[in-house]
Amino acid sequence: MNDHDPNCIFCKIIAGQIPSRKVYEDDELLAFHDIAPWAPVHFLMVPKRHIASMAQLTEADQALMGRMMVLAPRLALEQGCRPYPEGGFRIVVNTGAEGGQEVHHLHLHVMGGPRPWLKG
Ligand code: 5GP
Ligand code: ZN
Repeated sequence: MNDHDPNCIFCKIIAGQIPSRKVYEDDELLAFHDIAPWAPVHFLMVPKRHIASMAQLTEADQALMGRMMVLAPRLALEQGCRPYPEGGFRIVVNTGAEGGQEVHHLHLHVMGGPRPWLKG
């Protein structure tokens, strides 16, 4: 079981060893504001269990990933994204070096708010 990686920065945030500005928490998910936002709204959603990236997902993770995708729109609105279709949000999941992943604990970037944004 690769539940917690003591060298992983997001596992440390989940464990409360590194502070974060929480957006949402339940027994299997945590959402918190990105420390270096690219957009007026920019938070990260992570499974509490250490999964390095989307490349490690198995069929057993289908419900977990489904929950994240269904929860994201609700949290985006709560964090100030305007409603679809004028508003909306962008979800990005960088995976691996060529996918631009820097922190190797699976995370969804949820970004939104009035443009222009710093990136994208
Ligand atoms: P990646 O490039 O891996 O998709 O994105 C990692 C994201 O994690 C970056 O947007 C970065 O700003 C964010 N990040 C890195 N370290 C921390 C931290 O200690 N706290 C928070 N809240 N975000 C972090
Ligand atoms: Zn981790």
